Amino acid sequence: MVRLVSLPLSNTQTSLPITNPPKKPTPNTNHSLLHLCKHLQEAKQVHALMIKTSQISHTYSASRLAEFYATSDNGSLECAEMVVSSMEEPYTFAWNSLIRGSLKKHRTQEAISIYNQMICKSVQPDHFTFTLVLKACTQLSKPEIGKRLQSQIIKMGLENSIFVRNKLIHVYALSGSMVDARKVFDRSAELDIVTWNSMLEGYANNKDGESLHQMFDTMPFKDVVSWNTMIAYFVEVGEFSDAMEMFGLMQKEREPADRVTLVSVLTAVAHLGALAQGKWVHAYIRKRGIELDENLGSALVSMYSKCGCLEGAIEAFSETERKSVDTWNAMIGGLAANGQSLEAIELFSKMECSKIRPNAISFSCILNACSHGGLVEDGLGYFSKMKIDYGIEPDIAHYGCVVDLLGRAGLFDKVGKIIKQMPMKPDAVMWKALLSACRIHRNFEMGEKAGLQLIELAPDDHACYVLLSNTYAMANKWDRIHKLRKNMWERGVRKPPGCSSIELDGVVHEFIVGDIIHPRKKEIYEMLDEMGDKLKLAGYEPDTKQVLLDIDEEEMKQTSLGHHSEKLAVAFGFISTRPGTTIRVMKNLRVCGDCHSALKLLSLIYNRDIVVRDSNRFHHFKEGSCSCMDYW
Ligand code: ZN
Ligand code: ZN
Repeated sequence: MVRLVSLPLSNTQTSLPITNPPKKPTPNTNHSLLHLCKHLQEAKQVHALMIKTSQISHTYSASRLAEFYATSDNGSLECAEMVVSSMEEPYTFAWNSLIRGSLKKHRTQEAISIYNQMICKSVQPDHFTFTLVLKACTQLSKPEIGKRLQSQIIKMGLENSIFVRNKLIHVYALSGSMVDARKVFDRSAELDIVTWNSMLEGYANNKDGESLHQMFDTMPFKDVVSWNTMIAYFVEVGEFSDAMEMFGLMQKEREPADRVTLVSVLTAVAHLGALAQGKWVHAYIRKRGIELDENLGSALVSMYSKCGCLEGAIEAFSETERKSVDTWNAMIGGLAANGQSLEAIELFSKMECSKIRPNAISFSCILNACSHGGLVEDGLGYFSKMKIDYGIEPDIAHYGCVVDLLGRAGLFDKVGKIIKQMPMKPDAVMWKALLSACRIHRNFEMGEKAGLQLIELAPDDHACYVLLSNTYAMANKWDRIHKLRKNMWERGVRKPPGCSSIELDGVVHEFIVGDIIHPRKKEIYEMLDEMGDKLKLAGYEPDTKQVLLDIDEEEMKQTSLGHHSEKLAVAFGFISTRPGTTIRVMKNLRVCGDCHSALKLLSLIYNRDIVVRDSNRFHHFKEGSCSCMDYW
């Protein structure tokens, strides 16, 4: 018997001509009618007709109706459930439709409870059921349900179904139960690419590099997904050179890269500052006619700006047809970081004029631009605009930008007010910005306060001690410097060795302070001597305070200011590139004050643009001055 359900039928809606059916419709007619339905209302009319003609009592017809309700875009899961629960003997197909329907509507938990009901009613699950429920487990990251399912799968003799097994491995791998995943994997008679890729993904997610490599090396076949997993893993763990090497191997094996590959590769390039390789990737994209969608476009823009090459960033930005807010943010942020504050403001206005609505990140970028450019009024304007015009509550990063902006302008009263007003506690970034401002404006009192707070929040960051000791030096408080150093040594905080890199013909050359291992060291040191002589002639005096504060005693014995890694890299750049070529150097730490002054002069003496990306920001040295306007 069929349990009749009341359906809200409306006469005003578009309806199918079914008021006077010429003959009793067969199940097939109903299917065709169902496929014609564009609105839920129409399906309900077919449903009503099926009830009227008793077609609904045919298990097959009712199942098809349930499937339509559950899985079509205009369906209704509730109606599907009504049909299934009214069926006398609902069979597996109908239940599978319900599970599929709830997954489609992202009602994952419901998918699992439908499965449980199915088991309670002794409806036999098949391999479709398991693939669907396992998919739900993956989404919920519930390996314990996976385990329960596994025993049912074995009981039903379905463990050799490749679909079921792959989904099971996927559940375990993504929830971090790699031992369970491996057990299923090792028991599998037949392995396809999906199985291998699931295992790779699992090891990558668990950051188990050893098993990941071992699995990748033993794979009998690889596809783009396998390569992407490896490259993304290296990017994730910060091994950017290895990511590039893996990409090189992928090219050798003639596996074409897709957008996912290229986004990962561009992230690695950006970190390495390997502009030539980034340009190669851009050419690859053009040659293959790969469309710059919002993700790839943003990755390309941010790669160029992180390599200090704004022309490239602007080009990539205009080539990106579908620009999202991320693309605009990448470009505005790039202009800001590279010291082009006015251009960033102009672009922000363009974004407001287009249909893109700025988000919280857009405001961080534009506030950054204002603080780098010392544009106090503009910055404060954006800060109030974000809340009033766009309803975005400022977060700690926005407050940090405002503190930086005001501090840089020496408006310390306003800084104090802002810090008091904000609904959250200042973070290390904010104290750091304030400390830098105090050093520039020689505000010892506030500087010491900020420095002590900073060290409390980031006790392991060497740079914090350097900043505070610089502040002490400014006020000739040598006893406090001594105490601070002792404190730092007792806590085991060491300065990481300064390391600068420069890319030449696709090869990244790394230099550490006082480097003596480069194959062209003789020429490099000759060049350094020449640079030193020319600097002296130009009236340059080394800033020896930096020796005391920025490097520790051990390093001081071996080296001098002239041999800082950024100077070595620049010297190597001078001897290895044609006159007029821009020199691009990446440094892992802040550029020291002495190198900063020297590089400004060197850009004038040698008539070269020198771009240095340090741990804080970009310095574009040109004709004797720097884009950071000596504030960093
Ligand atoms: Zn230096
Ligand atoms: Zn600078």
